[in-house]
Parts: sequence; C-alpha cells; structure tokens
Amino acid sequence: MTLSDEKKIIIAVDGYSSCGKSTVAKEIARQLNYVFIDSGAMYRAVTLFCLRNGLIVDGAVNLPALQDKLSSISVSFIYNPATSHNDVCLNGGNVEQEIRQLAVAQHVSQVAAIAGVRQLLVAQQQEMGRSKGIVMDGRDIGTVVFPEAELKIFMTADTRIRALRRYDEMIAKNEPVNFEEILKNITERDRYDETRAESPLRRAKDAIVLDNSIMTREEQFKWVLEKVEERIKKL
Ligand code: C5P
Repeated sequence: MTLSDEKKIIIAVDGYSSCGKSTVAKEIARQLNYVFIDSGAMYRAVTLFCLRNGLIVDGAVNLPALQDKLSSISVSFIYNPATSHNDVCLNGGNVEQEIRQLAVAQHVSQVAAIAGVRQLLVAQQQEMGRSKGIVMDGRDIGTVVFPEAELKIFMTADTRIRALRRYDEMIAKNEPVNFEEILKNITERDRYDETRAESPLRRAKDAIVLDNSIMTREEQFKWVLEKVEERIKKL
C-alpha cells in the first residue's frame, strides 16, 4: 500500500513570497495523486482583472468600483495536459502566464488585502477541499481556509536567497528583470501580507516550519513526504 492509497488528508502550505511553496506543493500533490491548488494564482487573477479594467489608478485600487464588479469576476482552473497542472482562468480565459508578470506582482498584495476579494476566493477554496486529497499553497491556508487541515507546513527562507531564485527563474524565461526590483517586491509583499488586517500571513500554531534556505528541492520533497507519512500514520 502506498501513501496515495491511504486516507486522504488536506495539506496546507503557507509562507513567505517566492520561497518555493508551489514547487513543493505541486510535487507532493503529484506523488500523492492529490489535487494541487495555487491560491496565490487566484489573487493574481483578480489583480489582473483590476489592471485590465482600469480599477487601479496611480497605484491605488478603486474600491467602490471593484466592489461593484466583484460579482462579474470568475476565477477557475483548467487542466493543462502539457504541464500536468491546473492553469488559472479569469472569466474563462487562460491567464496562467499573464499573472506572473511584475505588474501583477506589484499590486496583488493590495488587492489581496480587500475583505470582499478574500471572501469570494476563500469560499471557492474551501469548496475545492471538500473531498480532501488536496495540497493548497498560500498565506492563510492553515489559519483561515483550512484551520482543520491535517498537515500544515510553513515555509520560509532568507530574503536574498528567495530573490535570487526568482531572478534566476525570470532570466531563464528571458524576461527583462532587475535583481534589486525583485528583492524590493518580495520584501514589500511580505510586509504587506504580514501587517494587513484581513487574514494576515501568520504561522498557524500547529504548522511545522520548513526553512529551505540551504536545501535542495529533493531534500524538501523528502522532508515533506516524511511529515505526510507520519501524519497519516496517526490518523
Ligand atoms: O503565492 P503568490 O506569491 O503567487 O501570491 C501572490 C499574492 O497573493 C501574495 O503576495 C499575497 O498578497 C496574496 N495571497 C494571499 N493569500 C493567499 C495566497 C496569496 O493573500 N492564500
């Protein structure tokens, strides 16, 4: 009997920006045959909606206009056979690539701090976890979305190491980037996410910390899988 045949659980992966949460969550989901959901992609999709519809003016979100349009925003996922993962869609259009742009990263924390946006997305995320067998990464998964998750991981790493990893990733994709700009974006998003009134980024009391500053991807996967195994044995 393999781990993926065992009773299904919910795995919450929270933590700071660009510390590889999605990479870990995706691989663990693949190995366990679980669904992987990148909740940050959902906040990014709403941010893209705001940018496309002129709801961000001089760096500030036009709150009343966004509230008016909230009911016309639909965020969903579609399976991409080329990557074997779910791509995020905004009102039916695949925006997986577009949401990774710096313009979106620069405004997403502001949009994610809006209560109405969180209510809309959290309800959807909770629905996705109803039948368990899910790995979801984000900032409030273990604290707000699934406070009852059987396993909670809180990821962190040195800020400069995180910025360098993101820089290397973007260079590999031939995107025009500047290291200092990325470092600034990561630092600002962390500060914004930790200090907002609505569901701030916090380590859940029962979350296990994974500091991956000097760990390889394989070491991280092994570490998390051991935690999954230990947790499932205790069920
Ligand atoms: O995970 P990612 O960096 O793509 O998330 C983008 C932003 O979305 C975060 O900086 C944070 O502001 C917001 N977010 C959030 N709650 C989540 C996931 C992401 O507030 N569960």
